[in-house]
Amino acid sequence: MSTVKIQNVNFHNNSMGEFIDIFDNRIQEQEKTFVVTANPELVSLANKDPKYYRTLNHADFVLADGIGVVIASKIINEPLKERVAGFDIMGELLKKAEKENLKVFLLGAKDTTIEKAYVNIQKKHPNLNIVGKQHGYIDINDEEIVNKMVELEPDLIFVGLGFPKQEFWIEKHIDKFKKGLFMGVGGSFDVWAG
Ligand code: UDP
Repeated sequence: MSTVKIQNVNFHNNSMGEFIDIFDNRIQEQEKTFVVTANPELVSLANKDPKYYRTLNHADFVLADGIGVVIASKIINEPLKERVAGFDIMGELLKKAEKENLKVFLLGAKDTTIEKAYVNIQKKHPNLNIVGKQHGYIDINDEEIVNKMVELEPDLIFVGLGFPKQEFWIEKHIDKFKKGLFMGVGGSFDVWAG
């Protein structure tokens, strides 16, 4: 799969539609997947913090979430196809999940925010199977929460803890799960909560 290196981070060069097909396929195959949606601030942190940089290298896909990243790719003459915003890709994956009866878990944001986001997501996708939700003010080492999540066997895990916490959380716990696509979604639950 083709990638473009921007400030030491390898971005996957696919359109939104292509990513959705790739991810859907991997979910169907129960192939575990770690997705990072990276904006320029995230790239900047990766260049300052070697630990975070190593974490990003464990991701299966890094998506260009920000026009700044796309512009940078044009400047180096290796243009990325398009900006793929985390919020938008989450929306597309929720549509797929509703159609294919995939199990969804929502992790992140404040307690009241995730409750509102849950209600609004369920309103928009009445047949969506949200198997669980958890606010994001947790210790990244909290095993009790992870164990409960593992038992639910989710297919799609949206992790909105902000960066770098969300990527550290995914890297730390992904191996405990049998399957699932794990995606850092930043402040997306706040948007869903309205
Ligand atoms: N957040 C969280 N746990 C924390 C810190 C932050 O769940 O320990 C949530 C916060 O409530 C917000 C999101 O993470 O919903 C971060 O959003 P922000 O817009 O700051 O991050 P970005 O989108 O830039 O990653």
